[in-house]
Amino acid sequence: MTDEAYHILIVDDSASARELISQYLSGSNIKAAFVENGSLAIQKAKSNPFDLILLDVYLPDIDGIEVCRILKSDKRTNDIPVIFVTIESDKKSLVEGFQAGAVDYLTKPFEKEELLARIKTHLKLKKYMEELIEAKKKAEESENLKMTFLSNMSHEIRTPMNSIIGFAELLQDENLSPGERKEFASIVINSGEQLLNIIDDILEVSKEEAGELKLFEQKFSLKKFLWELHTIFTNHLKNKPIKVLLNIPDDAPDVIVADKVRLKQILDNLLSNAAKFTTGGVIEIGYRLLQKPVPVLEFYVKDTGIGIPKDKQDTIFERFTQVEENLTQNFRGTGLGLSIVKRLVTFMGGHVSVESEPEKGSTFIFTIPYKKPEKISGFFPVEKERKSLLPPENVWQGKTLLIADDIKQIFAFFRETLKKTGVKMLYAKDGKETMALYRKYKNEIDMALIDIQMPEMNGLEVAKAIRKENKEIPLIAQTGLALNIGKKDAEKAGFNDIIYKPIKIDQLSKILKRYLG
Ligand code: ADP
Repeated sequence: MTDEAYHILIVDDSASARELISQYLSGSNIKAAFVENGSLAIQKAKSNPFDLILLDVYLPDIDGIEVCRILKSDKRTNDIPVIFVTIESDKKSLVEGFQAGAVDYLTKPFEKEELLARIKTHLKLKKYMEELIEAKKKAEESENLKMTFLSNMSHEIRTPMNSIIGFAELLQDENLSPGERKEFASIVINSGEQLLNIIDDILEVSKEEAGELKLFEQKFSLKKFLWELHTIFTNHLKNKPIKVLLNIPDDAPDVIVADKVRLKQILDNLLSNAAKFTTGGVIEIGYRLLQKPVPVLEFYVKDTGIGIPKDKQDTIFERFTQVEENLTQNFRGTGLGLSIVKRLVTFMGGHVSVESEPEKGSTFIFTIPYKKPEKISGFFPVEKERKSLLPPENVWQGKTLLIADDIKQIFAFFRETLKKTGVKMLYAKDGKETMALYRKYKNEIDMALIDIQMPEMNGLEVAKAIRKENKEIPLIAQTGLALNIGKKDAEKAGFNDIIYKPIKIDQLSKILKRYLG
């Protein structure tokens, strides 16, 4: 038996018996309370959570068998095991005692070993029983949650699926107007995206279960990342009377190292909940740096939506849990989003919480460790033996390219694509660094591919600055179509050419051939 203390009640009218039991129990982890009659026993048992009762059959007021029946018929006491005490020859009481609900019996005169063994056995059994009941309760709860989840999930999948099938069928009608065709196609696309989100959530949960969650940290501009998120989200909410605010304090850090994809997943989940549970008002996103006790970035997503009752604020972070049962009637959802948020935040080393008031709104707050970037610019080795994606006639052994882009994956793309060409690569993560690298290696650099949208100094400014010092070096602008910068704008800044992202291999090959020879 463990060291935890047990509390038992001894009911016996004989002072000497009580004294003897007290002696036997002394030094054990069993604490005993004593009463000398039946009514006191019932009274005491009702107001104290005893682990066991040792009950003498012969009592001056109510007899022990009757006391046992009363205890077993009361909700407050029916779980307490009763061992009754009788004399050896009294077979009738034995039978009646068991019929009244007792679990065991002891005979007088007591033997110490027997008394202790029987008491301890029943204390253990009671403990196991409680553990079993608790486990059963949990299993039932999780079974219920699973059923609710499955029915939600089937509704969640069916709704977009019906739209896809229904509107795809409608699209077959040749007499549709272009407007209708566009509208139906966009419903099909939106429903497909909805389905994809659900599948992503399910995959995420199974990844967690399999312990396959991994972080891929990278350096990026948090401000740019949030502005992009803000733009997408504002656009998404354009049909709702909701204002989306982005709050970034002036002194908030910008370039950080973190798993950008996971961070986006967390914020996407919180933002889509905010949008789902807010009919009008304001949704605000923001972050700040907290120094104590270790530096962390604290993000928040605040809404003026329906809010969450106090007693539900912890459980909503559990899987499949939603504030309203059968929530699917009003708000669609699987009850997975916040559990994914919590797991991701915890996995990243942070903490998530909620402050909310029904009908006023909710604020979800989470932290992640603040990691400053280490310097990563400079020369990167080129592996020559690996297969290149570029056709084999492209060989630029001895040539050096300067690649400037604040998104490191873009550089990784160039590095992979140009692996077998023998070209040497320099990488700069912002405008200022591009200038610094250019000045340091200007005699070696044969060409520069410069992103237009970069922190510190944008690509147009960089091109202008380089052109002041060097009229010859080929400068190629790289940019996304969304920026709306044409070849003319690029040439005005001093670029020779422009290449659009996502960069196509053959387009890149042409440009490199033209300027590297
Ligand atoms: P889902 O949104 O798919 O139901 P979540 O795990 O994302 O699952 O959220 C669980 C529940 O928490 C929601 O069903 C809702 O009851 C509550 N909830 C989450 N975010 C908000 C919010 N911003 N405002 C009000 N309630 C919320």
